[in-house]
Amino acid sequence: MCNVEVEVSEAPGEKTVGVDLGISNFAALAYEDGHAELYPLNCLKQDDYYFSKRIARCDDSDSEQATRLNQKKSARRTHYFHTLSKHIVQRCVDEGVGTIVVGNLSDIREDEENSESKDWGKHGNLDLHSWAFDRFTNLLEYKAEMDGITVDQVSERDTSKSCSCCGRERKANRVEHGLYVCDECGAVTNADVNGAENIRQKVSPSLATDGGDRSNGWLAQPSTFLFDKETGAFAPQEQITS
Ligand SMILES: [Zn+2]
Repeated sequence: MCNVEVEVSEAPGEKTVGVDLGISNFAALAYEDGHAELYPLNCLKQDDYYFSKRIARCDDSDSEQATRLNQKKSARRTHYFHTLSKHIVQRCVDEGVGTIVVGNLSDIREDEENSESKDWGKHGNLDLHSWAFDRFTNLLEYKAEMDGITVDQVSERDTSKSCSCCGRERKANRVEHGLYVCDECGAVTNADVNGAENIRQKVSPSLATDGGDRSNGWLAQPSTFLFDKETGAFAPQEQITS
């Protein structure tokens, strides 16, 4: 080994976390120990709705007022991405995570005929384009690096179709009301968390997928973090018991 000193922070730990980026939950996180977190997009959706309505009311889309509104909308989005990437890196520091595994969407985008391609267009008034995900990943990489955390990008291919509990991919496996239901092992997991866990396992394979068993329902109840406009930070949503 060489003794060259490099100026990098020491990694907070050895653990891994998988991150699945998407439309309904902007980010779903699956930690190695089985707990999971969701970051829904509702805040951005409300913002988009509000600004779209105001921009539509402008007489001319090139007017000074419309331009100002567009700039404000984009500044708020940038703020959201900065805050979220910072928050995720802090969560990784707290959880002893040394490697963040992020799904890379580019090969899915390039292969539009693939049945797996995400339908970016049909999500109401939210015009969140794929570049937003690239931009977010770059921010996450930059902030993670400062805390000694590595960001690995892996292909998202098949990560939404396979069961993260038993590793099986079957036609009968389905998504119902945002839940991934496995016909093979009976696991029911949040679909985005299932994707995040499959992404994580691309870097850090789980013994469970090699025939071991993992109790049914793990990862089924992720904690949800919402963006609080008052404080400008992400806070856990109160658990609603029904
Ligand atoms: Zn399964």
